Amino acid sequence: MDFESYDPSSTLVVPEHILTGSKYPFIDVHNHQWRMGSMDLTDLITEMDKMNMAVLVNLSGGNGERLKEMTGNAKKSFPERFIVFANVDFKGIGEDNWAAQAVEQLENDVQNGAKGLKIYKNLGLSLQDNEGKRVAVDDPRIDPIWKKCSELGIPVLIHSADPAPFWDDHDENNERWLELKQKPGRKRSDTNPVPWEQIIEEQHNVFKKHPKTLFINAHLGWYGNDLAHLGKLMDEMPNMYTEIGAVLAELGRQPRSAKEFLIKYQDRVMFGKDSWAPDEYHVYFRVLETRDEYFDYYRRRHAFWKMYGLDLPDGVLKKIYYQNAIKIIPGIDKSLFPD
Ligand SMILES: [Zn+2]
Repeated sequence: MDFESYDPSSTLVVPEHILTGSKYPFIDVHNHQWRMGSMDLTDLITEMDKMNMAVLVNLSGGNGERLKEMTGNAKKSFPERFIVFANVDFKGIGEDNWAAQAVEQLENDVQNGAKGLKIYKNLGLSLQDNEGKRVAVDDPRIDPIWKKCSELGIPVLIHSADPAPFWDDHDENNERWLELKQKPGRKRSDTNPVPWEQIIEEQHNVFKKHPKTLFINAHLGWYGNDLAHLGKLMDEMPNMYTEIGAVLAELGRQPRSAKEFLIKYQDRVMFGKDSWAPDEYHVYFRVLETRDEYFDYYRRRHAFWKMYGLDLPDGVLKKIYYQNAIKIIPGIDKSLFPD
C-alpha cells in the first residue's frame, strides 16, 4: 500500500452535524456555468434551492454575443437568481487600439447586463502580447480597464498565479504532492513563467495603483495558509476583498486562527466555491457554521488533513454568505435575503 491508497476510517466519536443547506441564503460569488446561454436553468435552480443558494455569480460570461445570450437566458427564466461577470478579450494586446476596444466592449457588456469583471489566471501565467511576451498582471496597457471598472461601479474578481507549492520541488515535503502527481501540468518553476512571488506582487501592484476599483482576490489570494500575512495585505489595500473558493481546507485546518481572521475581516470576505459540484458545498457549511471536529474534506489533492468547524457567529455568517456580496456587486435583489 502507498500514500495514495491509505485512507483509514476515523474511529473518533464526536458530535456530527451534517448540513445539507446553509443557515442563511447565500451568494456563491465564484461559480462557472459555461453553457448558461443555452441551458435550461431549471435543473440548476433545483440544485441551488436544495442547498439554500439564493444567487449564483457566473464568472464565465465572456463578452459580446456570448455574454448577451447568458444574461438574456437568465433574465428570461430566473432574473433574480443569476449574476453574470464579463471577461476581457486579451487577444491582440499590444496592438494600438486594443485597450480602447476592450474598454468599449466592457461598457457594452455592462449595458447587456454584466455586473462585474472576472480575470482568469492566464493573465500573468500564460497570456502573451502581440510580440509573444508574457503579459504581467500589472501591465500598464490594462490600466484603462481597471479604471473603467470603478467608473462603471463594478468589481473585478481576479485569480492570479496558483498555490505556491506548485512552484516548489515536487518531493515528499510538498503539501501539494498529490495534486502535482494527479495534475502534472500544474507544476511551475521560477522560469515557468516567473517566480510565484513576482506574479503575486504584480497583482498587489494593480490593487494599489487603482484604489477606487474594488477587487475580489480569488481563493484568499493564495494566502489562506498564512492568515496573518493576508490580514496585513487586507490592511494595506482597503479595496481588496476576498473569497474562500477551493481554499476551504486552509480554514478548516486552523479553526481558531481562521475564526479570528473571519471575525476581524468580516466585511471583506465572501462565499465562493469555484467548481460546480452540488454535493461538495455541505463541507463549506459545516466548516463555517458548526463546531464539529476532525471531519472529511471533499478533495484529497487539496488536503490530506481533516476539517474542524469554526462555529462563526450569525452576524459574521450573514456577511460572508450574502451581505458583503450585496454591498459590492451591483444588481443583487436584496429581498431574497433576511436583514
Ligand atoms: Zn474559478
